[in-house]
Amino acid sequence: MSATPPILKAFFKKFKKTKKSNFEIDFEKIDISLISVHAIKTIEVLEDNGFEAYLVGGAVRDLLFGIKPKDFDVVTNATPDQIHHLFRRSRMIGRRFKLVHVIYGREVIEVSTYRSQQKEIPQSDGSVIKDDNHYGTIEEDAMRRDFTINAMFYSPTNHKLVDFHEGLEDLKHGIIRMIGDPEKRYQEDPIRILRAFRVCAKLNMTLHTPSRSPIKKIIPLLHDIPHSRLFDEVIKFFLTGHALSSYKVMQDESIFAQFFLSPEFKSEEIDLFISNGLKNTDLRINQDKSCNPSFLFSFLLWHQVYVLWDQYKAEIKHSIAGLNQAIDEVIEKQIKLFPIHKRFTITMKEIWRLQPRFENQSPKKIYRLLLHPRFRAAYDFMLLRCQSNQLDQSIGIWWTNFIDADNHEKSLMVKQLTRK
Ligand code: ATP
Ligand code: MG
Repeated sequence: MSATPPILKAFFKKFKKTKKSNFEIDFEKIDISLISVHAIKTIEVLEDNGFEAYLVGGAVRDLLFGIKPKDFDVVTNATPDQIHHLFRRSRMIGRRFKLVHVIYGREVIEVSTYRSQQKEIPQSDGSVIKDDNHYGTIEEDAMRRDFTINAMFYSPTNHKLVDFHEGLEDLKHGIIRMIGDPEKRYQEDPIRILRAFRVCAKLNMTLHTPSRSPIKKIIPLLHDIPHSRLFDEVIKFFLTGHALSSYKVMQDESIFAQFFLSPEFKSEEIDLFISNGLKNTDLRINQDKSCNPSFLFSFLLWHQVYVLWDQYKAEIKHSIAGLNQAIDEVIEKQIKLFPIHKRFTITMKEIWRLQPRFENQSPKKIYRLLLHPRFRAAYDFMLLRCQSNQLDQSIGIWWTNFIDADNHEKSLMVKQLTRK
């Protein structure tokens, strides 16, 4: 008998039925080098001890696309106690449904036991308690996941793909399809609306019509979701390397305005500014550089501040006072729509408030700005304004040269500027 070929077994059957030339992406191959060695190690240990273990969810989906997953989830038929017992460096988490985090230095592999679907237990008073806390079979585990493309299991040790819901077919056709009755599943957890659009943006896929139809009705339920969960999900739209396409999808699906103050009119200038900001964000993420949510929010909301500031320039004598008033009003309105934590708004305000200071030519103020703790973020923001033709390019060039110059050159530059 020949050894298992490095292809996905379940797909292999379909593969015979379909013409290979139809595929644009080589979905039948998984590049093992994209898989975390720690995830493989975890699966090997479980298997060596007689348990089943698979990669599951987004990791399998991304691997089939040839993308390096950002995290790896493992599922198994071992119980949390059994998992915990097998890994010296592991900890049990979760109060009701227990999971195990296996720790390898800075990487954590989340291992969970197959879980069955939420059960509704009718009470004597007519109410229903949702019981979400039962181990199940691999098939039941697949049923409780959101989309078919997120419900595939893959074993990197024997190259077996388990796919109960034709996820691979949907992946091939670029379709996101909810498992089960879409309306019920959105009602169960409305965050799935955002998850659906996020995957659309990330992988340039289309939401299957029956999975899209109930969304309008369900959107108001998003307000019942704890803010921290919603906030994390919104952040994932923008800080996971596909911010520009996320913004487009959020605009097209009218969900951007659910979370952020939006311009009342269509403006090419605003579009260019935000697109440039998002492109830079994607570039930084893809270069593994850090991205601060404050910077993201400051360019997503800048147009609001800018328009008001402009208005106040005419009404309020002192331009800086006008800017401060505009900033306070925008933050207040934004917080009513979708709160942003103070630790972020403090930085946003500083980035905005520092903007006029890049145009100030007094030597003392130039040096003071350079030493400001928020200088770097404000400088990047100012460059973004130059890049989007909102500020004279020469200002950005001058500051870039100034930063690069040594002390002697710096003082010459400042002298020249004051002479002008
Ligand atoms: P990514 O990690 O790239 O953001 P993901 O799909 O892996 O995307 P995770 O939050 O890591 O997202 O979740 C892992 C898996 O858990 C999902 O692929 C899905 O199978 C399941 N899952 C996560 N959230 C839900 C949910 N709200 N409802 C049902 N299943 C979910
Ligand atoms: Mg994931």
